[in-house]
Amino acid sequence: MLRRCGAGKVVGIRLAEDLHDLDALVIPGGESTVISKLLVEQNMMKRVKALAKEGLPMFGTCAGCIMLATDIQQRPEQPRIGALNVTVDRNAYGSQIDSFETKVKSEYKAFVHGPPLHVVHIRAPAIVDVGQGVEVLAKHNDRPILVRQGGMLACTFHPELTNDSRVHQLFLEMVQERKQALA
Ligand code: GLN
Repeated sequence: MLRRCGAGKVVGIRLAEDLHDLDALVIPGGESTVISKLLVEQNMMKRVKALAKEGLPMFGTCAGCIMLATDIQQRPEQPRIGALNVTVDRNAYGSQIDSFETKVKSEYKAFVHGPPLHVVHIRAPAIVDVGQGVEVLAKHNDRPILVRQGGMLACTFHPELTNDSRVHQLFLEMVQERKQALA
C-alpha cells in the first residue's frame, strides 16, 4: 500500500540492525503479544522507544495500535512502545469470528468530502480512552478507530486490506512534514 501511494524505499524490519536510516516506522497488524516478545528478545524495544521519543513518525494498525498505546487494559504488563496517549482493550469485539467490515464516515478534514472509509476489523482492539493531545480522526459506534498524536498515527482496523489508500497517504504526508521540518 505504501508503495502504491508513492513511498520511496519500503523495507521490512526484523532485526535490531535493520533499525537505521528510517524516515518512519509502520507497526503492522498481527499479534501484539508476539510483536512485544520479539521486540524484547531481539533487543529492539529500547531503540524503537528511543526513535519514538526522537519524533520518528510511526503508524500502528490493529496490533500495531496496541503496541503504540501507553496503556493496555487487562494486560498492563505487556511490553509496548507506549508513545501514543491512548488506552486500548485487546480483542474488544470478541474472537476471530466476530471480525467485521463496515463503512465509516470520517469527519476529518481530509476525508470528510470523500466516500466513507472502508474499515476491516480483524480480532481488533478498541481504543477505550484518549488522553491529552490525541486527535480522533474517525469513530465507529462512538469509539475512536483512527487517531493521531503528533507524528503517531494509529487505527484499530486494517487499511492495507482495502482499496482505500487515504489513511496511508495521510501517514506519508506526516512523514513528509517531519522531513521538511528537519531540513
Ligand atoms: N488480536 C490481536 C492482538 O491482540 C490484534 C489483531 C490484528 O492485528 N488484526 O494483538
